[in-house]
Amino acid sequence: MKAAVIESEGRAAVTEVPDPTPGPREVVVEVAACGLCGTDLHILQGEFAPELPLVPGHEFAGTVVGVGTRVTEVSAGDRVAVDPSLCCHECRYCRTGHNNLCERWAAIGVTTAGGAAQYAVAPVANCARLPEHVRTQDTALVEPLSCAVRGYDVLRARLGAHVLIYGSGTMGLMMLELAKRTGAASVDVVDVNPARLATARRLGVSGAAANPDELERPQGWDLVVDATGNAAAIQDGLDRVAKAGMFLQFGVADYATRVTIDPYRIYHQEITITGSMAVLHSFERAAELFANGVLDPDVFISDRIPLERYPQALEQFAAGVGRKIVVVP
Ligand SMILES: [Zn+2]
Ligand SMILES: [Zn+2]
Repeated sequence: MKAAVIESEGRAAVTEVPDPTPGPREVVVEVAACGLCGTDLHILQGEFAPELPLVPGHEFAGTVVGVGTRVTEVSAGDRVAVDPSLCCHECRYCRTGHNNLCERWAAIGVTTAGGAAQYAVAPVANCARLPEHVRTQDTALVEPLSCAVRGYDVLRARLGAHVLIYGSGTMGLMMLELAKRTGAASVDVVDVNPARLATARRLGVSGAAANPDELERPQGWDLVVDATGNAAAIQDGLDRVAKAGMFLQFGVADYATRVTIDPYRIYHQEITITGSMAVLHSFERAAELFANGVLDPDVFISDRIPLERYPQALEQFAAGVGRKIVVVP
């Protein structure tokens, strides 16, 4: 089959690789679409993936074309979105409900072959069946949405919160859509990229600006979400949290990124700084939210690029052009 391969640091290509075969409790999915995200760039930079070469792609959906000997829950022809999370179910974190922090954490498309290919293998337990009315290609968005749902779980959002989101790429916009539907009093979005801010405005925001100083909330925001991973944004965001408020590190920063905190203010104003990592018991809910129209896929997916052009698609994503880019085998 044809697959995108990250061959070594900085090198991506599309080549022929052997067709995958399913284990007893696995299925083979014919990929309809696979989304690109910052994680893929980290892998290209030699981070995250324990070894290269690797077929990337952890945001995908498709049609089941083969099942293992002990699979009865799905059959050929079923359409599924795939949760890429792989955990051991044995370590202390798994056994205490923190499967996304598993000591042997792994993921399809990060540590094992992923969905930027014609076919991919997944455990049947990771497959969410899709209802009739959704387009299979669009459900490549379920995985990033499941990360946003996890982020929202961590936020402990209360009705009437004022929310500030840094970054109006796909993840920031997903947090925006969730915030609007979970009773936020206001949702403001900050981004230095005017094209991205325009999309945020189109989806509906209370305020959108390149700099929070242009937004009128001198007392700060109850919930501040970084969806950039950028040091300057994170540093600024930490200073914008209102008393008793919470800062969520949702964007993926480079390993070397450092910011400073103000311990006195954290103490004196009871500020919480927290993070959320990937998916935790949120994939099924994301699939249901998606099926119920929480996102407009035609706004969120800006580019559908043939798999053959995976390296160029990755370059376009790295340049910050467009929103969610999916490759289509
Ligand atoms: Zn991703
Ligand atoms: Zn574990």
